[in-house]
Amino acid sequence: MKQIDKILVINSGSSSLKFTLYAMDGEEKLASGLVERIGSKSANMVYRRGNDPKEEHSVDAPNHDAALKLVTERLVAPGNGVIGSLSEVDAIGHRVLHGGELFKEAALVNDSVLQKLNTLVHLGPLHMPANIGGIKACEKIFGETPNVAVFDTAFHQSMPDYASHYALPDEYYRKYGIRKYGFHGTSHHFVTLATAEFLGKKPEELKIVTCHLGNGSSLAAVKYGKVLDTSMGLTPLAGVVMGTRCGNLDPAVVLTLIREGMSADEIDNLLNKKSGLLGVGGINSNDMRDIVKNAAEGLPSACLALNMWTHRLVFYIGAYFTLLSGADAIVFTGGIGENSWQARATLADQLSALGCIIDPEANKNLRGPCRISTADSKVAALVIPTDEELMIAKETFDIVSKTIK
Ligand code: AMP
Repeated sequence: MKQIDKILVINSGSSSLKFTLYAMDGEEKLASGLVERIGSKSANMVYRRGNDPKEEHSVDAPNHDAALKLVTERLVAPGNGVIGSLSEVDAIGHRVLHGGELFKEAALVNDSVLQKLNTLVHLGPLHMPANIGGIKACEKIFGETPNVAVFDTAFHQSMPDYASHYALPDEYYRKYGIRKYGFHGTSHHFVTLATAEFLGKKPEELKIVTCHLGNGSSLAAVKYGKVLDTSMGLTPLAGVVMGTRCGNLDPAVVLTLIREGMSADEIDNLLNKKSGLLGVGGINSNDMRDIVKNAAEGLPSACLALNMWTHRLVFYIGAYFTLLSGADAIVFTGGIGENSWQARATLADQLSALGCIIDPEANKNLRGPCRISTADSKVAALVIPTDEELMIAKETFDIVSKTIK
């Protein structure tokens, strides 16, 4: 049997291509980086060998094929590359936004998988063409090396129908696939496994509320290793207040805006790019650090943004705690969840009603993975750093090890 070791993880977005090369023996990051602003005159490449300082320079990357070629040339560069030739890469794992209902787990890419991915483009029109383009670019450059698609939605496919369906007539689900899919699944999955490891249990023994709080944010109620509910929906717009997304609204807000003369694209832009902390905070920033600082200085709009953020989060944590009939742990991850002790501290009073007592000192001083609840707290509060790239590499490794002999 072929020994699988080096896995390249590719996250191909509409104008960027991110990559990480792992040696799975020891889970070592050999190189990482990205090509950004693909297709523009100001395309740029960032490259980091292991933990060395980053290199950055402008590049000519008119499309994703050209960007991937630059990445692969850098990986094998004589003298200071990290591999001798591309044939050392045993498999490539691709982050794919949407698996619809067709993919409940990661999939080894073949013609039939590619055909299925093409039928899902309407569910992620911005991301799916770039995700599929990344796979095709790798097929061209790497030849027979296996590609694996790892879906942001797959971990949430275990949701029961009463959690995933919207209360619309059934034909809208059947005709257009309109239902809740959920996103950040790779992160929720990683954090579920890491929480179990941290607590010395199996995922099947635990009920967890996972809170991925970053510029995009979502929560999941994870019961014995399976998602029971999650806060994002048909798209990543639903749920909590995010950096630039509004999260849940009365759907009639959209109707009102249409009647006021706004187009679908304008409303899309408003709700996805101009709302959330950015829209409410009044400081032209979607960064939680700026919101916290300005709220501490008493700026009313920043206080409102932070209070709304907390209020909606507490609402979801409480709901998921009840849906799970109690939880063993509430887990924070993502840029805000891992780093902002001030943002986590805003939840402390209300979480204590659930028997989750945050230790203020631990919350302020510890960095994950760690426990920030008191020793006698009935429910553990944990900070667990997420690593979506590593999770994609692990899933790719598992699938390829099982299927390639
Ligand atoms: P992500 O999307 O997971 O990369 O998270 C990005 C967000 O994390 C940023 O917009 C910041 O609001 C927040 N963040 C990152 N680092 C810190 C930090 N050291 N303290 C507070 N918030 C942070």
